[in-house]
Amino acid sequence: MNTRIPVAIPDLSGNEKNYVQDALDSTWISSSGKYLDQFESDFAQVCGSKHCLAVSNGTVALHLALLTLNVMPGDEVIVPSLTYVATANAVKYVGGVPVFVDVMSSDWCLSPEKIEDAITPRTKGIIAVHLYGHPADMDSINHIAGVNGLWVVEDAAEAPFASYKGRPTGSLATIATFSFYGNKVITSGEGGAITLNEDRLALRAKTLRGQGVDPNRRYFFPITGYNFRLTNVAAAILCAQLERHVEIIEARKRIYQLYEEKLSDVSGVHFQPVSEDVVLSPWLFCITIDEDAGKTRDEVAQRLEDQDIETRPFFIPLHLLPPFREDAHNRSADLSNTLRLSASGMNLPTYTNLSENKIERITNTIKGFLDNA
Ligand SMILES: *Cc1c(COP(=O)(O)O)cnc(C)c1O
Repeated sequence: MNTRIPVAIPDLSGNEKNYVQDALDSTWISSSGKYLDQFESDFAQVCGSKHCLAVSNGTVALHLALLTLNVMPGDEVIVPSLTYVATANAVKYVGGVPVFVDVMSSDWCLSPEKIEDAITPRTKGIIAVHLYGHPADMDSINHIAGVNGLWVVEDAAEAPFASYKGRPTGSLATIATFSFYGNKVITSGEGGAITLNEDRLALRAKTLRGQGVDPNRRYFFPITGYNFRLTNVAAAILCAQLERHVEIIEARKRIYQLYEEKLSDVSGVHFQPVSEDVVLSPWLFCITIDEDAGKTRDEVAQRLEDQDIETRPFFIPLHLLPPFREDAHNRSADLSNTLRLSASGMNLPTYTNLSENKIERITNTIKGFLDNA
């Protein structure tokens, strides 16, 4: 009997247990403690950023970023339509209007050209998503933002430890956000962070994260804040993950290489394009299935599911979802790349100890089904 192959399994084989035990023994299980301090300091450094604030998840990280940037009701924020729903939900939490823009076929991230078409007098900022681990074209996006007086946030949930023109993700915009959900590259089960350089914004973000308390006057709350904090126990897991991040990335890159080797000769199957000047974060290996395959993406996914192999279809375009579709329809932007990728793309299982045998089981199932091995 074949065992089921899930899309993701967290790798907790380092010091995770030791550090959690140590956090418990210390009784520092709430929202301060040495693991939080250490994680924030180490992660800021890896991201080439001055500040890091740990928060309870990646959605909260986005919400905190938008609160910090003072997004107001009615403000328009440009987001890609091909992303996880949290990117647009966060805009809604602050009363903003997500304006959906297409991705490029060359990197699957926000199209700078199409951003320009979407800017109105109400536009305040851009959330660039590093989709499936590939950094967006940040120089072009930052340039457009600069010319139009907009801020830029990087949603780097899927791309920690990636780089763009030699600079790490987390250092490429005014604020960057990360997720440490169970299926992400490093995880604490639930968890997230923002990274940023400006001291003034960091102080504001810290205040908002902790109920708005005045840093110099206990129990005095000059503004309405939130409880967006992470626990020291979760940070203990993150410290253990972070100290092994090079090893984790290497192991995942090896999975990517094996998939590419074994699927390179299958007509109709294509890989994620990688721009020359970026280093991808190997999150979930992607393929797209075109007409030459003779089968649809959903048929391939079903065949894999029949063999107890889990896959994930690419995100459903956000502009088609009930909370957003009416507003998006009225703007009638060209979102053709998003539609095509969403219909043809899928993620294959990617985790550090996925064996070559299992990868072969997956790739042989695909080849056998597409009949052209
Ligand atoms: C996972 C993810 C998030 C949200 O993270 P959570 O920790 O699940 O709240 C946000 N944006 C993108 C692009 C993601 O992939």
